Amino acid sequence: MEIKVSNRTGFCSGVSKAYDQVKNLLQKNSEEIYIYGELVHNNDVIAEITENGAITLRYLEDIPKDSQTKTVVIRAHGITKFEKDVLKNKFFSVIDMTCPIVKNLINYIKKKQEEGYYTVVYGKKEHPEIQGVIGNIDEKNVLVTLSALKIDNKKVLFVAQTTAEEEEYKKFVVEMININKFSEVLIKNTICPETILREKETEKLSNECDVMLVLGGKHSSNTNKLFNIAKKYCKRSFHIENVEELKNIYLSAYDKIGIVTGSSTPDKDLHEVLDYLKNNYRTF
Ligand code: SF4
Repeated sequence: MEIKVSNRTGFCSGVSKAYDQVKNLLQKNSEEIYIYGELVHNNDVIAEITENGAITLRYLEDIPKDSQTKTVVIRAHGITKFEKDVLKNKFFSVIDMTCPIVKNLINYIKKKQEEGYYTVVYGKKEHPEIQGVIGNIDEKNVLVTLSALKIDNKKVLFVAQTTAEEEEYKKFVVEMININKFSEVLIKNTICPETILREKETEKLSNECDVMLVLGGKHSSNTNKLFNIAKKYCKRSFHIENVEELKNIYLSAYDKIGIVTGSSTPDKDLHEVLDYLKNNYRTF
């Protein structure tokens, strides 16, 4: 059995920096560290940092009474301005680990809104990154959608969620232009390069392999997206969260196994999968 692993594995740069920051803080501090929102969409990683003293706050209402002496970390996806102001007011220290790529997206939209552009964001309204973006710009002059629709505005800026699928984004923009009468259109590809590379690797491996293993959290939207791409090109594709789930999949009949991972999947999970395959199948 040949195992082909994607060239792009491990945490993406944004998640990696936020994770390292939390680990450093946990090592240096005897007190618990708070994280506003899930640091990464991966249950094993959340369990690991929780064991070491990190506490995840899901809502502002969860802020503890003694927060004035505590530190809170903002995760890579970012948060709304309102939430950040509340955290600054309530905590002793706020460490903002919003990914620079997300910050650039926010700043770009703000600048273009000032120049009079109405913003169309290709993305999921309920995704935390989009909630954070919307909560930092002029909310009245923005539309978030995954499907093309008619709008009245004439001077329009198109941007995408940083983890959107590039081909789908392009199709969406073409469709929007076809069904609307814009006087001015500005199209910006704001998809994270890391996302694009992982998608390309997934497509390539899915075309070459008999079986695809997509490793990552079941509620990680970028892992789910890689799984959808893998399924398109390789009908024997499996989304597994960890090595335990791999144990239920029978692989002896197949020659080439491709493995890709989401941007919130730690290297440790990949190594466990590779060790399992090496110990249970004849691999090279
Ligand atoms: S996927 Fe890209 S934009 Fe999102 S956190 Fe990672 S590096 Fe930043």
